[in-house]
Amino acid sequence: MTTDTTATETRTFEADVSRLLHMMVHSVYSDRDIFLRELISNAADACEKLRFEAIGRPELLGDDPKPRITIAADPDKKQLVVEDNGIGMSRDEMAEALGTIARSGTRAFMERIESGKTGEDAQLIGQFGVGFYSAFMVADKVDVISRQAGSEEAWRWSSDGKGSFEIGPAALDEAPQRGTRVVLHLMEDAASYTESYQLERLVKSQSGHVPVPISLVEKPA
Ligand code: ADP
Ligand code: MG
Repeated sequence: MTTDTTATETRTFEADVSRLLHMMVHSVYSDRDIFLRELISNAADACEKLRFEAIGRPELLGDDPKPRITIAADPDKKQLVVEDNGIGMSRDEMAEALGTIARSGTRAFMERIESGKTGEDAQLIGQFGVGFYSAFMVADKVDVISRQAGSEEAWRWSSDGKGSFEIGPAALDEAPQRGTRVVLHLMEDAASYTESYQLERLVKSQSGHVPVPISLVEKPA
């Protein structure tokens, strides 16, 4: 079988991802704030991975050597964008990283939550670090556009978090020059996450120790 890598395809999430997503969206968990910490932490990890790779291949940094994370809010469109100029992802990495659960302990964690001691799940989710999928606590659609360092191709991943995702090529002019852009289409009741004082508060309280500069801008460029 050959796969046409130029086409956009729809793929189903691994069963455990669907379970995790369902659980996060429907749990009594109220501290949705943590999604931002998780996205910033991934952005910072991506910058760190690039820094490491660039020790042997300095050309990967091109004319953009300084790591950065940008958070852009568009209140009119109810969109929040978290972008980094880190290592980026290839198509296969994207499908793997944002379609399965690689992390050990996740299954045990979900079983504990599903065992149903209400009240406990709130704390647990926060402690566990739910990662990228926590974006679906505040967004009913998430787009991820990524261009790997040194690559001439860009990819778009998109999902409503309900069982499947789309993945396919993205035009270079709609992708970051290098790195990853995560676009959250916020739910109606999460629209306040575009308010700059909210974002400032969250970045300060949750991501104060992130070793990459974070800037907040009003509207996506
Ligand atoms: P974790 O960070 O613990 O690995 P996440 O669910 O937060 O788990 O992220 C899953 C994976 O998705 C990451 O390990 C990484 O491979 C990929 N990923 C997520 N966000 C980014 C990003 N901004 N840049 C590059 N890769 C990313
Ligand atoms: Mg993470």
